[in-house]
Parts: sequence; structure tokens; C-alpha cells
Amino acid sequence: MNATLAHRLSAADRCDRCGARAYIRARLRSGGELYFCAHHGRQHLPSLVGQASEIHDESDQLTADVSSAATSTSADER
Ligand SMILES: [Zn+2]
Repeated sequence: MNATLAHRLSAADRCDRCGARAYIRARLRSGGELYFCAHHGRQHLPSLVGQASEIHDESDQLTADVSSAATSTSADER
């Protein structure tokens, strides 16, 4: 019953490439796990599809935050 909890990424999970908060986790068939921020996730996911047994993506949460922040930022610039 805690399968959903096990899938949640936390602030302690960091992108393997840049150290930003991870929103995407890929479990590899070879046994390892890779973590990516939304940016690097998009960059690497296409090549991971063949290697990963499971890809968990929470980047939609980030997109919601960024789009609201971007709207207020561009309004302030003017
Ligand atoms: Zn990254």
C-alpha cells in the first residue's frame, strides 16, 4: 500500500548532472538509478527509454510552478 509513497521524490533527491532538485527518476535494467532535474530529464529521457525498466516523472509539478512564476516575472520587467 505504500507503493505511492516510495515513488515520491523529495528535496533530498538531486540531479546526477547538475545537483538541482530531481524531478525524474529512472530505474535502470542494470540495477542502478539515475536522478534528473526537469531540464536534464528532458535531455536524457529519450536515450534512457531503452535502458530503463521504470521512469518516474514529477516534472509536471515543476512546470506548474515555473509557468506562474514566469508570468509574474515578465510582468515586472516592463
Ligand atoms: Zn540537472
